[in-house]
Amino acid sequence: MTLRDEAVELLQRLIRLDTTNPPGNETAAAELLREYLEASGVACELYAKVPERANLVARLRGGDGPTLALLSHTDVVVADAGEWERDPFGGELVEDEVWGRGALDMKGEVAASAVAIASLAREGWRPNGELIFVAAADEEVGDGFGLQWLVDAHPDAVRAEYSLNEGGGERLDLDGRGFYLCATAEKMSAPFRLRVHGRSGHASMPGIADNALLKASVLVQRLGEYRPEPRAEPEVVALLETVTGRGLDDPHELLPAARGIDAVLASLVEPLLGPTFAPTMISASQKRNVVPAVCEVVVDSRLLPGQRPDEQHALVRSILGPGEYELEPIEAQGGTRSPIGGPLWDAVAGFVAEKEPEAAVVPICVPGFTDSHWVRDAFGTVAYGFFPARAMHPAQAALLIHSANERVPVEDLDLGVRFVRHAARALLG
Ligand SMILES: [Zn+2]
Repeated sequence: MTLRDEAVELLQRLIRLDTTNPPGNETAAAELLREYLEASGVACELYAKVPERANLVARLRGGDGPTLALLSHTDVVVADAGEWERDPFGGELVEDEVWGRGALDMKGEVAASAVAIASLAREGWRPNGELIFVAAADEEVGDGFGLQWLVDAHPDAVRAEYSLNEGGGERLDLDGRGFYLCATAEKMSAPFRLRVHGRSGHASMPGIADNALLKASVLVQRLGEYRPEPRAEPEVVALLETVTGRGLDDPHELLPAARGIDAVLASLVEPLLGPTFAPTMISASQKRNVVPAVCEVVVDSRLLPGQRPDEQHALVRSILGPGEYELEPIEAQGGTRSPIGGPLWDAVAGFVAEKEPEAAVVPICVPGFTDSHWVRDAFGTVAYGFFPARAMHPAQAALLIHSANERVPVEDLDLGVRFVRHAARALLG
């Protein structure tokens, strides 16, 4: 059996375990992985805050060198079978693609990482340091059963100098040259509530009231029209300088430079030039005939790494202007970055150079966030999102993730196994 077949079979078995979060039930996946890995002589430990939501940590120990953690999650988002052409939990192999919920996000990478560490163990390879594989629960909801909890409750189990995770690895084709995105940073998720005040009254005589919903709509409009003053963050500058082959020191040049090359590139760069505000939820009166005295708008907002929520508040007030409203932060998470360069970067670049010598690796900041920020925050880990994908166009993959008919090309699964093996050997001898 080839490593490729092994990865396909393991992925099929993982997809067939329904780990839709909520409720998760990731223990089934952790046990399957333990059985698979122990058969190849890899030591495994399950850590669970509650019995049905276990995290698996597998490790290969060697010398005193650094630790590389392969991070992943085993939970998936809900799948509505009615929308799918095939059973979302069937794990069918059709024309060299494995179908099912989680194929891309991210049971494919789980399977590839497991096959990589199992195969290295069987070959008798031992790291000069430590190679660990973490298959965590609860990434999609983040209720505190997964990596966040592991980092807090069992830091010694997951502490690492370097880590690889989801969030990058897509291949962009720009003017015939390949560029692989390596996610070295993530924006901060900092949603807030905008509460607008008015005065209630009977809706048949709107003039006697002060409609909070109407007042909110003006403010929502202002948020929608806001365009930030662009900032030149290191990831965007390095990305565009590599792609264009010229220096870009004026932040105002960045978006036009991206637009001049490719629309997909421009859509990637645009949210990385400043904070974003996306009003997504609104509530006002509970009765059709009562003019609302209060209207609440939930605004999804993402800040650049390093921007703080108090900066965000001052900015929002300057966008909205004076008025009868208040801002209430909901939470603030993420917003971390790792250096571009060093041994992990070299491992990624070395793999790309070997597989596609004309291509280049470029850094990217992720507009959303992944579990990587937990280890960056807790341990200062150099954490990258990189799992190479070139058989499927990134625009197609983006449409399938969290959507119907999710599937992964076997070609990319195989490339992933090879990448993880390469990274482990390059970094850990
Ligand atoms: Zn994911």
